[in-house]
Amino acid sequence: MRAEIISIGTELLLGQVDNTNSSFLSRELASLGVEIYHHVTVGDNPERLIEAVKQAESRVDLIVLSGGLGPTEDDITKKTLAEYLGVDLILHEETEDKIITYHKNADFEMPENNQLQALILADSTPLTNDTGLAVGMMLTNDRHHYVLLPGPPDELEPMVENYLKKELVKHILEEQVLVSRVLRFFGLTEAQLAQKISPLVKKQSNPTIAVYTNDGEITVRLTAKSKNEDEGNKLIDEVEKEVMSYLSDYFFGYGEKRLAEVIKDLLMEKELTITAAESLTGGAFLSTLTSGLSAGSILEGGLVTYSSDKKNKVLKVTKETIDKYGVVSGECAIEMAEKSRKLFGADIGVGLTGVAGPSSLENQIPGTVWVGIAYKDKQSFSKHFHFGYKRNKNRRLAVLNALELVRRTLKELPIENTQFYGEDKQ
Ligand code: ATP
Ligand code: MG
Repeated sequence: MRAEIISIGTELLLGQVDNTNSSFLSRELASLGVEIYHHVTVGDNPERLIEAVKQAESRVDLIVLSGGLGPTEDDITKKTLAEYLGVDLILHEETEDKIITYHKNADFEMPENNQLQALILADSTPLTNDTGLAVGMMLTNDRHHYVLLPGPPDELEPMVENYLKKELVKHILEEQVLVSRVLRFFGLTEAQLAQKISPLVKKQSNPTIAVYTNDGEITVRLTAKSKNEDEGNKLIDEVEKEVMSYLSDYFFGYGEKRLAEVIKDLLMEKELTITAAESLTGGAFLSTLTSGLSAGSILEGGLVTYSSDKKNKVLKVTKETIDKYGVVSGECAIEMAEKSRKLFGADIGVGLTGVAGPSSLENQIPGTVWVGIAYKDKQSFSKHFHFGYKRNKNRRLAVLNALELVRRTLKELPIENTQFYGEDKQ
């Protein structure tokens, strides 16, 4: 099946709003095996919208429109399409009830035009809007399928995820169910990842393999279309095995849980406490680790020590270490980890030091980072990283890589290129 995405909104043409909807829709449709042939953007103008729809009809089967379902003057999508296709706009009662209830509970009177959001094209399938008022819809005539979605991404995305994809699978793709599984990885760059699994991605059809990266955290989503859930899971099991044959060293979990949450759960499960002494990350490591629910049981405290003086006076990193190796060093990272562990009586201590940028420090270029790990009676170690020139990205990558070092330490997984400077505890 071929599809085209038409984004509607003058604000998009003026560059006031980034068109995230079309990239989101492309990814989601591709995961169903739908081929996207064109992205088109038009302003809030009926003639040009019809022109765009006509052109799309000449080249694809499925036309997905985003934007202009709201109640205001410039929200022209439904009216324009109804006139063009010669279908009526009818009231969708469920949405009307929802709009009335919403305004009853809110403290303001319902504007007359708000009910416009409850109109749908006759004979279309409504798509529920869980996070807003305007109902979406899908209409099929003898030659094409038309999907109308609201503009705000926080309304469009759940509508696509929770309703549209199921409808597409059921009615258009002639399969009954859609099964998907999310695998999470850490520690590869985008280029390394592409190289490793490109043969798989190239030959994908069902299940499809979608890969997203976010500062080193990699999400691989496998989506299968099948007659039933069991069959879908079997198809996914096979592809998962293949993906794992390339990437198992980097796997950290299933589902949407981020690396920090996985580590927090691991610490809780093992009843361990953690602490950190942070320099270049300024507290971001512990902040990331504690951003979810209840972190009290894994953390009693931590330190941010930027200056050499405070590293020495508060954290008790020795003057010798600082003078001999510098603060941007594996030796200093290890001492920061060990001293913070002692100071807070934690099971695992993490030391983060380095040069976030943009200027250099101790003649070391931006992106140079050392992470030290001190864990119970195990030999402490540090690991060197070199990221890049972007300050905030360096800080985020330092945090994530330190988290991954904690995970690998707790799970006793191999860690490459470490350096040991801590006192030998064996
Ligand atoms: P509303 O009821 O909020 O008016 P709507 O369905 O009428 O919703 P629009 O009026 O077209 O949608 O857009 C509302 C807002 O949604 C825009 O101001 C913009 O912030 C966002 N938006 C619209 N289209 C896109 C898009 N393609 N990508 C990202 N954001 C978008
Ligand atoms: Mg609008």
